[in-house]
Amino acid sequence: MNHIIYCPVCHHRLFDIKPPTAGTIEIKCPRCKKVQHIHIIEPDTQKTTTVKTT
Ligand SMILES: [Zn+2]
Repeated sequence: MNHIIYCPVCHHRLFDIKPPTAGTIEIKCPRCKKVQHIHIIEPDTQKTTTVKTT
């Protein structure tokens, strides 16, 4: 099942990820023009997607 990552500022849909995926993605939101650092944390024991902004 894919995770959909939304912009935490304007909730524009940025991209989908397919697990297992982990890491940090830097993406510029095309709508609000803010650069977001998306931290994807997905341990194999617990499916959790954490989105944090800096
Ligand atoms: Zn945005």
